Amino acid sequence: MPEASPDVVHALQERIKELSCLYEISNIAATSTASLPEKLQEVVQALPKAWQHPDFAVAALLLDDQQYRSGSLASKYETQQHPIVVRGLERGHLAMHYNYLNGAPPPFLHEEALLLKTLAQEISGIIERDEQKAREALLRRKFEQADRLSILGEITAGIAHELNTPLGNILGFAQLIQDRTDDQQVGQDIEKIINSSMHAREIVKKLMFFSCEMPQQKQNTDVGLLIEEALQLLRVTFEQAGITPRLSLPGRPVIAEVDPIQFTQVVFNLLINALHASAPGQEVWLTLIQHETNMVLRIQDFGHGIEKDLRERIFEPFFSTKAPGEGSGLGLSVVHGIVKTHGGQIELESQPGEGACFTLRFPLTSVA
Ligand code: ADP
Repeated sequence: MPEASPDVVHALQERIKELSCLYEISNIAATSTASLPEKLQEVVQALPKAWQHPDFAVAALLLDDQQYRSGSLASKYETQQHPIVVRGLERGHLAMHYNYLNGAPPPFLHEEALLLKTLAQEISGIIERDEQKAREALLRRKFEQADRLSILGEITAGIAHELNTPLGNILGFAQLIQDRTDDQQVGQDIEKIINSSMHAREIVKKLMFFSCEMPQQKQNTDVGLLIEEALQLLRVTFEQAGITPRLSLPGRPVIAEVDPIQFTQVVFNLLINALHASAPGQEVWLTLIQHETNMVLRIQDFGHGIEKDLRERIFEPFFSTKAPGEGSGLGLSVVHGIVKTHGGQIELESQPGEGACFTLRFPLTSVA
């Protein structure tokens, strides 16, 4: 067999390096359980050895303003780069730099430009798959949460109905006895029964809001006015807590078909929660925006925020992190039910320690 020329051997060795690098990257993509940034750093670290002069080579990946680098750059360097395109959108680039001190930098090979392109495409694929997985996981969680809330809604509706009638009876008969008795002690005891039954009825009412069982009286309403009224109701509470509300309304009235009392209840509950979460000196922002077919109300505070594992539970009835007696855990359940019966949506964004932002979207005209 004739001996291969040194050029051929060299070319083959280079090819083997390239293939090993591609293999290593596919391996990282397929087997690593690390987060995307950690994976990308591993990938970038693996790249220089595929180049002809690995000792001078520094691989760098730029993705959405985030830099990943395999080493540090000298004051002089030569660069080859290729864009990173994910789902048709340019999000950064993959670069290989050759550091050099004096004279001319080591030359890049034509094959290396091709390899860089292949690697950039591989990396785009890793990013795309990872983001797709994250999107699917988010969607699954949303479905599970919606499912759990709708099952809870059905159970709650049944319980609320079952309790409503006996509670009405207790209240009615207690009031009858109260009207007929002259005994002071009996009068006082009956008073306690009446107060407790009314409290229980309030809870049942809130459960009925959550399970969308409350009748509505929707009418075309100036929503900005309702928000101003809710703020007015809480003005003193805000002042006492040392918290400043900032309201931003569009220049002209936003008219939507809502039940004014229920809509006020939504704003009120969200404001009360924002107040409870905030520290003196902080602000709570309310923003109303009108779009063509819907309106968006955002209530944002800068308080203690909500931990990730609690976020999926906060709309459940009786879920509360407040001390017993301070919170019933029904405020957000009522908000959820009312938003749902108005054909709206509610979203929460929160960074623990930085605050919480509830975004509500309502259609401008009734969907019922
Ligand atoms: P309650 O306020 O009576 O506890 P809610 O249903 O209104 O009941 O709220 C449930 C839980 O959601 C609260 O206990 C709290 O942990 C959390 N929460 C709601 N709004 C906020 C907010 N703006 N900031 C931080 N946590 C909040």
